[in-house]
Amino acid sequence: MGSAHGIARLSILVGLVVMALKGAAWWLTGSAALYSDALETLVNVAASAMALYALTVASRPADDEHPFGHAKAEFLAAGTEGALIVAAAASILQHAWVTWLAPHPLEAPLAGIAMNAGASVINLAWAQVLFRAARASRSPALAGDARHLMADVATGVGVVLGVSLVVVTGKLWLDPAVAAATAIYVLWSGLRLIGRSAGALMDEAPDAATMGHIRAIIKANAQGAIEAHDLRTRQAGRLTFLEFHLVVPSTMLVTEAHDICDRIEGAFRRDMAHIAVNIHVEPAHKAKVHDAIVV
Ligand code: ZN
Ligand code: ZN
Repeated sequence: MGSAHGIARLSILVGLVVMALKGAAWWLTGSAALYSDALETLVNVAASAMALYALTVASRPADDEHPFGHAKAEFLAAGTEGALIVAAAASILQHAWVTWLAPHPLEAPLAGIAMNAGASVINLAWAQVLFRAARASRSPALAGDARHLMADVATGVGVVLGVSLVVVTGKLWLDPAVAAATAIYVLWSGLRLIGRSAGALMDEAPDAATMGHIRAIIKANAQGAIEAHDLRTRQAGRLTFLEFHLVVPSTMLVTEAHDICDRIEGAFRRDMAHIAVNIHVEPAHKAKVHDAIVV
């Protein structure tokens, strides 16, 4: 199996095929429910293309214009994806409302159902490929894609069941009802995505477990120093930025203090893959009474 980028590119291709099938299913039938599914797929494909571009940008090393790296590109893309998803939900709701007011019998419903179901089978198969590739390359992005596809399979099954029910019972209102239910699910997933990326863009602190781990690393590697305080940590994508004050005996030589800093930095590099550490050295009288890591 090729690289994560190759897989992501293939993913977009598969998405286009699925989108064409679902779009044709809607075109054939005029079903609001099938429209909702087709539109969701369109957004997915646009989002995957954007995510791929963002990954490329995010993996660039820091440069003069972006001295802290480009990791946040991923969250900017995810936030935009969330906005797209919310817009799709609005369009689906509008479509469902119009169909609700003026229900019309579905044309060629069986062909439409078959096409949409075929698209879901492709999604299901591709999700399995993605799961395997995600395990092999340990990529959270690919694993996320695979889970997303599985969610699409679930909505696809729901939509196919709904449209089948319209055909069996002849109750036309079921069509916009299924579309509206899909819209609510789509809206929820879009808002959740926006919330998550907003948190990441706002320099959220890592979770309590990670913070505890960071404090333990400092404590275990700062022999010779007195204490550490004013810890500040923020996350940008995979990157964690850590800064703190390190209090050392006032008469300690700069070279000795620097050795302690290097030892702590080395320990962080060994223990956490993507962390940038910045240490400010202070003399003994700067020690704080509370909220300090005493060595
Ligand atoms: Zn201080
Ligand atoms: Zn240095």
